[in-house]
Amino acid sequence: MLLAALLLGMAATSGARAEPARAAGAPAAATPLPPERPDELKPAAPSPEVPLPPERPAELKPSVPEPAPAAEAPTLPPAPPPLPPARPAELSGDAALALKVAAPDDGACRVRLKRLGGAFEPLPRLESGQCGAASPLRLTALEGIALPQSATLVCGAAEALARWATEVQAVAEAELGSPLKAIAIGTSYECRGQNHDPDAKLSEHAYANGIDVMSFTIEGRAPITVGPLPNGTAEARFLAGVRTRACGFFRTVLGPGSDAAHANHLHLDERERSAGHRLCQ
Ligand SMILES: [Zn+2]
Repeated sequence: MLLAALLLGMAATSGARAEPARAAGAPAAATPLPPERPDELKPAAPSPEVPLPPERPAELKPSVPEPAPAAEAPTLPPAPPPLPPARPAELSGDAALALKVAAPDDGACRVRLKRLGGAFEPLPRLESGQCGAASPLRLTALEGIALPQSATLVCGAAEALARWATEVQAVAEAELGSPLKAIAIGTSYECRGQNHDPDAKLSEHAYANGIDVMSFTIEGRAPITVGPLPNGTAEARFLAGVRTRACGFFRTVLGPGSDAAHANHLHLDERERSAGHRLCQ
């Protein structure tokens, strides 16, 4: 009887939020048992501790360091023992893993691209042997900057181009005193190996993840073509400036001087390398 009273007291305390009226008026004989948890809500491990969210794999962490999470209450009161919170089904086990390795969130990228002034249209999936892209788009213009040839790119590469173009605009104003009006694009998507070598590893162009920039149109001037320019000229400083800045937006930047294949254009791509390594030449 003492035990029953104790149980009833605990039930009245812990179940007070759920059914206060019935707990108070129920006869002693009907000692309520805690409700069975549905199977799908039971944690795989029997530990009653609050489960921590799974660690994100290192390669999926953003390069920008996240602010340290607010210190979670280090010492929880010892009683009453809390039930583990029901994990939402969509964040459990394999589903959680699948979410983390799913395709990049193109929706958010496209919103950002639009905010950056990008004009584009979605394209159907590209598939050609080992080449292709799941959700490419055709980029036709940037903020105040024409792209006469347009570019077929995945959103991440298009966004990098848009962000870089705002810097190109600033360099044009600083070095040339005139606004950038257009960027001439050579290759964007093309199913081929690196440097047109069929035996080489596939180029990022084969994944709509790379772009070749051939020349820049500045208001009131002859187009500035990528290539060797006399040292000390404003045009040379402009080209050097935009090339240097490209390294802040693209993982790969190649151009005149890198090798013969890149003597007349800037090759920019978003190839992922281990440990976030970049190739900026
Ligand atoms: Zn290229």
